[in-house]
Amino acid sequence: MQNKRVLISGASVAGPALAFWLCRYGFTPTVIERAPELREGGYAVDFRGASLRVLDRMGLLGRVEARATQMGEVSYVDSENKTLVVTPPTFQSGELEIMRGDLSRILYDATQDVEYIFGDSIAGITEHDSGVSVTFEHSATREFDLVIGADGLHSTVRSLAFGDEAQFRHDLGYYVSIFTVPNHLGLDHVGRFYNAPNKTVGMYSARKNAEAKALFWFGSEPIDYDHRDVEQQRKLVEDTFAGESWEVPTLLEAMREAPDFYFDSASQIQLSEYSRGRVALVGDAAYCAAPLSGMGTSLAIVGAYVLAGELAAAGGAHEPAFRAYYNEMREFVETCQKLGQGNGKWFVPPTRAWIRMRNLNLRLLPHLPWKRYVEQLPLKAGNAITLKDYPPAA
Ligand SMILES: Cc1cc2nc3c(=O)[nH]c(=O)nc-3n(C[C@H](O)[C@H](O)[C@H](O)COP(=O)(O)OP(=O)(O)OC[C@H]3O[C@@H](n4cnc5c(N)ncnc54)[C@H](O)[C@@H]3O)c2cc1C
Repeated sequence: MQNKRVLISGASVAGPALAFWLCRYGFTPTVIERAPELREGGYAVDFRGASLRVLDRMGLLGRVEARATQMGEVSYVDSENKTLVVTPPTFQSGELEIMRGDLSRILYDATQDVEYIFGDSIAGITEHDSGVSVTFEHSATREFDLVIGADGLHSTVRSLAFGDEAQFRHDLGYYVSIFTVPNHLGLDHVGRFYNAPNKTVGMYSARKNAEAKALFWFGSEPIDYDHRDVEQQRKLVEDTFAGESWEVPTLLEAMREAPDFYFDSASQIQLSEYSRGRVALVGDAAYCAAPLSGMGTSLAIVGAYVLAGELAAAGGAHEPAFRAYYNEMREFVETCQKLGQGNGKWFVPPTRAWIRMRNLNLRLLPHLPWKRYVEQLPLKAGNAITLKDYPPAA
């Protein structure tokens, strides 16, 4: 096996999942994560189709099922909290749903043989004939054979190897904020969503109802803001939702205290290759499908499986392996991204008329002949790849 020393940037989903498989095949991955420790906060993410089979092949399906959110119905409500329409659990939660932080923890615990470096970031990548010299923000320069960016939508590795993010990022016209709040409505494994034109605010219970997650979505032209300035982002959310009814004032109040405030654009990464020389990308860094697709975690888990499998199948030869990885993933990525592009107006209706039409459609859906088609759409996307059997573990 050649190219055994693999540096992976990012310890969320794609990074640890890739490290898991690489270890199994006899590589020696190192994972570097910018956060000072494993980031266990976050929102619910769900699995559909092929990703469940990958979890099974990892021997982790049972552990993920044991931490499943077991989310039930999600209702759309009016300003008085009166239910307008109820959607079935699979609509929002896929076939299996878990909090992203719990998933990270499971993957991290399953990769105890892997070297993890927290609180640091790659600063520079210089490729030479036999490998890659990597400089870091804090640690000393090290030599690796391959570098993989699993560092999300705003990937540093992608910027270093491919160039400025703006070339590859396609904003879908929405922004999302999500954070933990007290479960003041006493929600029991259910979610409530409220719409105003171009805005969706939601709340769902989490961690056995001990807390809840608040979601704020809004449609907008591109906003110029600082990715690292959380105060500016909180203010943006506050200003956008000021004066809205339902539970909005209470949730905005809770936002001030939230330990895990998150804000970003709903964006996709579209690349015509996932590698440059000895550097490759996986997960959101390579093909973010945006939260609106509900497929990001499935893509990350499947992508890690395919990338590691192709490297093992090629005996570590990166050029054929990276090519095969791209060819295997391309159609799956396109299908999942298409799903994300189509969901915006449905989830964040632009006008009152749209809100009424969406709710009417949801109400009528159980009686419509295309009910099955609509329900199966995300599942079909999740299965838009046939998993290859890669060489047995070393
Ligand atoms: C609000 C929201 C809701 C979502 N809902 C769903 C859903 O329902 N279903 C679903 O399948 N997916 C969902 N997703 C998407 C899902 O979270 C991602 O697609 C998935 O986590 C991809 O994992 P990743 O490991 O590729 O990237 P990420 O989870 O983004 O992880 C990237 C990691 O890299 C680290 N990092 C960043 N920069 C550096 C650096 N320079 N050096 C070192 N480390 C770095 C970050 O700290 C992070 O730990 C949602 C996403 C959001 C934002």
